[in-house]
Amino acid sequence: MSPERHSKTSLSAVLLDLDDTLYPESDFVRGGFHAAAELLAQRLSQDTEELFGLMMTQFQRGIRGSVFDAILFELKVPREPALIEELVRAYRSHEPQLTMFPDAEWLLPMLWPRYALGILTDGPAEVQRRKVKALDLQHRVEAIVYSDDFGREQWKPSPIPYLELLRRLHIDPSHAVYVGDNPKKDFVGARRLGLQTVRIRRPNTEHGHVEPQSGFEADHEITTLKSLPDWLTANTRSERHAA
Ligand SMILES: [Mg+2]
Repeated sequence: MSPERHSKTSLSAVLLDLDDTLYPESDFVRGGFHAAAELLAQRLSQDTEELFGLMMTQFQRGIRGSVFDAILFELKVPREPALIEELVRAYRSHEPQLTMFPDAEWLLPMLWPRYALGILTDGPAEVQRRKVKALDLQHRVEAIVYSDDFGREQWKPSPIPYLELLRRLHIDPSHAVYVGDNPKKDFVGARRLGLQTVRIRRPNTEHGHVEPQSGFEADHEITTLKSLPDWLTANTRSERHAA
């Protein structure tokens, strides 16, 4: 036996973010606001499309988490907590009509034969499960972890959901890559665990133009998931092992 050998440490698992990585989250947002606008239109005897337009305007202004408060203020309607709760429920519980990004649709069957595939997603678990179902993703990857199942404090970048996904796939962190779009949380925790990280930068999405703080960068950036298989192959690391 030779005293040492060169062997390839292959990346054998691809872990994927969901929102704005595999499908446009704005489609979910639009559907949610439409459901809320329908409810509010009934209550106020106003036009659904007009209310929907007001909600989208607030959203496009960068308002997050308080769009309904802003709308009621704008309409001079008293802010009743029960009404806000109903609107939030309508938003979250609507049955979404979602479509994968074309490059994501292309990617999954490309990777399937060679890599273990998993999804790790933040957000209210029941909402995220509805998105997965709408995209029929439960049949297209081997494991899906909803960080919210471990509590709000275990959303990314907590290591807990990454480790759970790796455990389910029987993969060591050094053999996995996490692919996501949000430099605020997708890569910093994954890198600490020893995963490699790839950022998909989509210009028309929430985080497409966000410049990461130091330490929050991904190892690599791409603008289409069509580049990922070549990167995976090229990035397979050669390591020298003592025999
Ligand atoms: Mg995302």
